[in-house]
Amino acid sequence: MQIITSVSEMQTLAHQLRSSGQLIGLVPTMGALHEGHLNLVRLAAERADKVIVSVFVNPTQFAPNEDFNKYPRELEADIAKCTEAGADYIFAPDPSEIYPKGYSTFLSEEHVAKPLEGISRPTHFRGVTTVVALLFNICRPDLAVFGQKDAQQAAVIHKMVADLRFSVDVVIAPTLREPDGLAMSSRNRYLTPSLRTEALSISRALFKARDMVAAGELRSDRLVAEATHILAQHRRVRVIYVSLVNRHTMEPMREVVPGVSLLAIAAWLDEVRLIDNIVL
Ligand code: AMP
Repeated sequence: MQIITSVSEMQTLAHQLRSSGQLIGLVPTMGALHEGHLNLVRLAAERADKVIVSVFVNPTQFAPNEDFNKYPRELEADIAKCTEAGADYIFAPDPSEIYPKGYSTFLSEEHVAKPLEGISRPTHFRGVTTVVALLFNICRPDLAVFGQKDAQQAAVIHKMVADLRFSVDVVIAPTLREPDGLAMSSRNRYLTPSLRTEALSISRALFKARDMVAAGELRSDRLVAEATHILAQHRRVRVIYVSLVNRHTMEPMREVVPGVSLLAIAAWLDEVRLIDNIVL
């Protein structure tokens, strides 16, 4: 396992790997890695010859009032986990490497990024697309793996890659959950035990919607109402949105189309903002 912190070193290495005909897989992360991330690394290792995991808490995707400063950073533990999961390189640059003084170019997808997360976090996806485009240019991957947990991010990246004709295969890995259903997230560590219990209502609401669809209920308003009702039983859960959308465009849907519809939830648990979703 090699740790790379400089952009030019990463570019040279990517160039060498490509010249020698090796398929490069990239897994972009912000670190504080859990099994959900490691599953992406394993998937990348199955499909590529060399796997680069980027560990970069990207300042441009956080708004000034968000948790950039307190976001967990634990590179040593991340290195050990990535080694075990089959990564070959960790790219862990400093923010000043990625955004040197005077940096002024940003990229925004303007359709898929607008609803849901785009409403409460209007600058978030601009930061995500900018950093992912930078990582693609620096690491030159043949494929890049993202998680379904961040469904809108996955859709935005797909659209960016299609629109800008990046020659990168975007692979989406399923959401990994704790045994009790809570979607794994680096932010779960902010939850106290009692908040965590209330947070379980998010996955329960999603699973209930899945069961309703299995029983034949396809109407968006019924599914959204039931999911919202489950969330509303918890005092410290503040719903930001519960929405049935097209998983590719993020546009609202009136009825479930199997495999295309996604029920997406975002909620505040006191000061912790959680998102989760299920494909119906
Ligand atoms: P993050 O470090 O939170 O930016 O996440 C890095 C990548 O891991 C993103 O593509 C996420 O969608 C993915 N990811 C995060 N949590 C999970 C999870 N529970 N299951 C699957 N993928 C995940």
